[in-house]
Amino acid sequence: MIPYGRQEISDEDIEAVVRVLRSDYLTQGPAVPAFEAAVASSCNAAFGVAVNSATSALHIACMALDLGRGDWLWTVPNTFVASANVGLYCGADVSFVDTDPQTYMMCPDALAEKLAAAERAGTLPKVLIPVHFAGQSPAMDRIGALAKQYGVRIIEDASHAIGAAYQGQPVGDCTHSDITVFSFHPVKIVTTAEGGLATTQDPELARRMELYRSHGVTRDPASLTGEELDGPWAYEQVALGYNYRMTELQAALGCSQMTRLAEFVERRNQLATRYDRLLTDLPLTCPAQSANAYSAFHLYPIQVDNRAVVFAALRAAGIGVNVHYIPVHTQAYWRNRGFNWGDYPNAESYYKRAISIPLYFGLTDQDQDQVVSSLSAALNVI
Ligand SMILES: *Cc1c(COP(=O)(O)O)cnc(C)c1O
Repeated sequence: MIPYGRQEISDEDIEAVVRVLRSDYLTQGPAVPAFEAAVASSCNAAFGVAVNSATSALHIACMALDLGRGDWLWTVPNTFVASANVGLYCGADVSFVDTDPQTYMMCPDALAEKLAAAERAGTLPKVLIPVHFAGQSPAMDRIGALAKQYGVRIIEDASHAIGAAYQGQPVGDCTHSDITVFSFHPVKIVTTAEGGLATTQDPELARRMELYRSHGVTRDPASLTGEELDGPWAYEQVALGYNYRMTELQAALGCSQMTRLAEFVERRNQLATRYDRLLTDLPLTCPAQSANAYSAFHLYPIQVDNRAVVFAALRAAGIGVNVHYIPVHTQAYWRNRGFNWGDYPNAESYYKRAISIPLYFGLTDQDQDQVVSSLSAALNVI
């Protein structure tokens, strides 16, 4: 089976993890700050806060922006469920902005319309989470300008997009947002097995996210408030936080992986360009590439008619295809909260024709040729 995605682990990665196992610190040692610095500097961010998943990173990002009861969080339906769930973790209400039919990402026109209506109704969101779907960048210039106009904070869910760029700037530099989040799940570009990281340029947001990832407990003498906290042993809980910490093993793996980030993304782009060429004459739609952006190509989502038939034929031929994403609002949990099929037509019609075909660093040209010939056969054109 050729999977749709998989991790790339080198001997150096393995040695880096083993070195940690032989060292003094399995957690809360030097590897996590080193990994944070490596990711932050790769995307020109002042701060990076590493945690145990991108879901946790999105959660502490929402907490740092004071999202709570009575607030609204908006994201897109074409994403993994975590982008929406984090709003509920904070006690906020969640709604969605429909996607653009060409990019499959947040549609700035739909956003403008929904913001204007929400302003009239007095229900403007506090936090907006646009998603860098498949490694591409949404129209962050327009989305960022609209958010500024209405006083809405932005968290970019760039789980798919480490190593990508938008208008010549690295994704993660937060030019159009308050915080950007990356995921290091094994199918993503860079892995720490499980892991996530939030970047920001704002020292106060970084400080708050650090607090929330570790029980709300601080040892920073400047943050201590208690009168009897007068010794070097002092620590103080000043907020309700979580244990969302990344381990040293994960961070060491991440540091080692980060040395190959450019290589990972370059190969994914090569493979995507090759797909674009090999698939030209087939009856399907290839993903659009925005002219002013460099995609990290986490996914290569195509659009086909008779999706179920094509999907089954590819799986039968040993091609591990997948579907990204079943629109969040159509999940049972969200339908129970009042959403329905028909609410976001663009995300739904994209979903009905979507298949993600294999794309990962270790995919060889021969593997890719096999995917293409199986796809041709499934589409009955050879
Ligand atoms: C993978 C993913 C997440 C969650 O990442 P984890 O690290 O698994 O928590 C969130 N949003 C999107 C768009 C993702 O693809």
